[in-house]
Amino acid sequence: MTPLASVFDGNDSKIKLVPWLVSKGANLQDRFEPFLDFWHDGLKISHLVAAGVGKNLHKTFARGWRFQCTSLQRFRDYGLDTMKLLLGPGSSVCYDHCNCLCSGAGCSPLTMILKSIVKSYPYPYQNCTGTRLTIMDWILKVGDLEPSTKHKVSLEALRFILFDEMDLTHTCCQPAGNIIKPTIDEEEASEVRDEEVDMIFQFEALYKRAVLE
Ligand SMILES: [Zn+2]
Ligand SMILES: [Zn+2]
Repeated sequence: MTPLASVFDGNDSKIKLVPWLVSKGANLQDRFEPFLDFWHDGLKISHLVAAGVGKNLHKTFARGWRFQCTSLQRFRDYGLDTMKLLLGPGSSVCYDHCNCLCSGAGCSPLTMILKSIVKSYPYPYQNCTGTRLTIMDWILKVGDLEPSTKHKVSLEALRFILFDEMDLTHTCCQPAGNIIKPTIDEEEASEVRDEEVDMIFQFEALYKRAVLE
């Protein structure tokens, strides 16, 4: 496992190391070499780091307003530069090979961050769309992104969040605990799409309308 891949568990002190490792020549766009069964085709180091960052943002934003200020300040200190690297210009070519309509070209670091924001213990009653939207607003505000990256990131988030809100079934990889579960096979995925064809049609129409507005 490379030092960058070890950031996957979302440990604060490891996330803080990412910009330093990158300044020493580590590349977030490197393919993630398989170890154990965490691997699926096309996964890059960037996806793993993003899942770790997402887990941290989840904790930070789900703690409620009383804790948010301190937690956010902490995230600014240890995670913000890493997040900027993940969503910076290099991310425009960073997609895995998942074939799921929640994204246009495969999972990106941003969708990996959003996938880590799920209903889970100890916040079972949390509305994850609400949390995802709050996090997106925050990312767009503090992320220092180029206008074109900002636009790309907003569209990706819109597509992903709308897909989940419409209760469509993901056929892409999913972060789960300390692993990223591989995608289901193509045959199963096409069965899922056949079953949901009407909803998918509505989803695509809504997405197109939202993009044009
Ligand atoms: Zn998906
Ligand atoms: Zn994926």
